[in-house]
Amino acid sequence: MQPWTADKIRAAVAALHRVRPVYAKLLGFHEALFIAQEEMRGRLAIEPVHIPRETLALKRSAALPLIDRSEFVIDVGAAGRLFERICEIALQTEGPLAKAAAAFRSALETGDLDPKVLFEALIEEREGVFAATAARFDTAADLVSYLAYNSVKPSLMNGAEQLAVYLEPDEPWNKGYCPVCGALPALALFGEEGQRLLCCSFCWHQWPVKRLFCPYCENRDAERLHYFFSEQEEEYRVDVCNGCGKYLKGVDVRRLGRPLYPPLEQAATLHLDIKARELGHQSAFALNF
Ligand SMILES: [Zn+2]
Ligand SMILES: [Zn+2]
Repeated sequence: MQPWTADKIRAAVAALHRVRPVYAKLLGFHEALFIAQEEMRGRLAIEPVHIPRETLALKRSAALPLIDRSEFVIDVGAAGRLFERICEIALQTEGPLAKAAAAFRSALETGDLDPKVLFEALIEEREGVFAATAARFDTAADLVSYLAYNSVKPSLMNGAEQLAVYLEPDEPWNKGYCPVCGALPALALFGEEGQRLLCCSFCWHQWPVKRLFCPYCENRDAERLHYFFSEQEEEYRVDVCNGCGKYLKGVDVRRLGRPLYPPLEQAATLHLDIKARELGHQSAFALNF
């Protein structure tokens, strides 16, 4: 995949800002965040995870992802520096994120917070660590995990790229969870030929799936799968499932007319989350602030 330079991210953000100026603040924060993350990706030292041939065959036959989340290799030094940088960026925002960032920054200086503990908790899915840290700093647990996640995201993305060599390109995965790490999709993409890809909410690997299919409950009954879109924003559609009640936001790449940076589209479509919830559908994720 082509690297995302700072200029390319700025161009994608500027194009989005032109059509949705109401998101100015949100876009300002995410532009700085994504640039910091993509620049970090080029400087990481990550040992590739090796998967023995027999293990690979077993995983494939059982439709298991290549690795468990806890097996991701994190460049802890780089993630620590990024954590500090994200706190600096967040200080420019308003509200609970800025307040938490200020507290974390002082704690980093005094040694009262070791972000490494948060990074380990994140990949090992130990939610209690976030709750305990949140209580200590008078903030919300999902805000702590959000900062930790965004700090390790470059390691996860690079790791997923390395691991993708183990995937069988000719064997469609057709599952609702990521073939690399097993996490659920955060976003769907409809490509140039109408093919549907899912983007992993954790490592951002993209995998092709059938068009009619709910990734959250594997419902394939066309009668119970619908979608909605707005005529003002033809580039988006939201797939909803009457089986499990969940929704998935999607970007139609043919109608986008601007560079596609999936995490940006995911972040700058809060209005679709609000609309979906108003219509009675549920998000597969806890929505951040
Ligand atoms: Zn993944
Ligand atoms: Zn479903």
